[in-house]
Amino acid sequence: MKTVYFDHNSTTALKPQVLEAMLPFMVDQHGNATSRHSYGRTARAAVEHAREQVANAVGAYSNQIVFTASGTEANNFAVHGICSNLEPTQILTSSIEHPCVSRPALAMQAYGWQAKSIHVDANCNIDIQHLQSLLKAPTGLVSVMFANNETGAIQDISAISQLSRQHNAYMHTDAVQALGKIPVDFVALNVHAMTVSSHKIGGPLGAGALVLDKRIDIQPLLHGGGQEKGLRSGTENVASIVGFGAACELAVKNLTAFDMQTESLRKYLDTGLSKLNAVIFGHHGLRIPNTSFFAFANIDGETLVTALDKKGFAVASGSACSSDSDKPSHVLLAMGVDEDLARGAVRVSFGANNTLEQVQHFLATLESELARLKNLTAIAA
Ligand code: PLP
Repeated sequence: MKTVYFDHNSTTALKPQVLEAMLPFMVDQHGNATSRHSYGRTARAAVEHAREQVANAVGAYSNQIVFTASGTEANNFAVHGICSNLEPTQILTSSIEHPCVSRPALAMQAYGWQAKSIHVDANCNIDIQHLQSLLKAPTGLVSVMFANNETGAIQDISAISQLSRQHNAYMHTDAVQALGKIPVDFVALNVHAMTVSSHKIGGPLGAGALVLDKRIDIQPLLHGGGQEKGLRSGTENVASIVGFGAACELAVKNLTAFDMQTESLRKYLDTGLSKLNAVIFGHHGLRIPNTSFFAFANIDGETLVTALDKKGFAVASGSACSSDSDKPSHVLLAMGVDEDLARGAVRVSFGANNTLEQVQHFLATLESELARLKNLTAIAA
């Protein structure tokens, strides 16, 4: 039997319509988008069409989109590129950011910046009072993610932007896990820069974007041939960019259906998990509809993930996002979760093609695997 995929926050399958849009640019239309001949012009037109599709999906103008090779690159570009044009002060990032935001912020310390972390509460929401107190010192950049990849917690980005702007700080948000799951409107969020990524929404790997306020002054991360108006040199990955554009259009079109489907599955799952005495992290706050992050006392998360994989379910553990680390999730530790419980964390993230039957089967499998693992622990003790 084919393994059931419940790990859509890690990456998603390419949508068939996306593949169809990409294929010509991987075979016949192989032109370089900067070339003057007809192949080049066709590739350029395709990139510009994709730029419009991405812009439309996030409520921006196409000239505000800078294509990158990934969300990771766009986040590094935002932090490094914005700060490089400012006198060093402090960079504030939330304590639950993806490492591709927090690590570039730390790296800026080599250039005289101070990187500080904004606390979150037990529900994974930004502690606004802590942010306010940090903002009393001169601040160049605030970066807070729109939706968290582990718990799914959604932040009030427009309120955080307003506060940051009042203190003359630039505001960036990582919207990688928000796009395709909740409405993402660049203008309403009131940020100066926003990151999105293709492979999280049924698009291909190899494409991401930084959406920029037209008035922002930003330094490129990559220097070279001057592509992307000098902001991101490197020959455009035309096929991936085309796929990203197509995926954005589909994601927006299917947003309501995605939300209804995944939220009903998540509700069913959470009810079942509670009956099995799971602790569900951040479930009292606002979450993206497809994500549930939970743990069982005295059950190791990695062990449970491996056991579930053997039984035909692909789910993630708490440390999945910092691949090489066996430390408990920094997100859970920031929320004040006990370290032992945090080591038990498992994440389920649904996609639109998952079914109620799969969730029912998952809960039954989980129940029997939990009993088996508890038994093993009892024997070993
Ligand atoms: N930001 C968040 C919140 C993510 O979940 C991820 C990927 O897991 C990234 C950034 C990195 O995006 P990419 O995989 O496109 O580099």
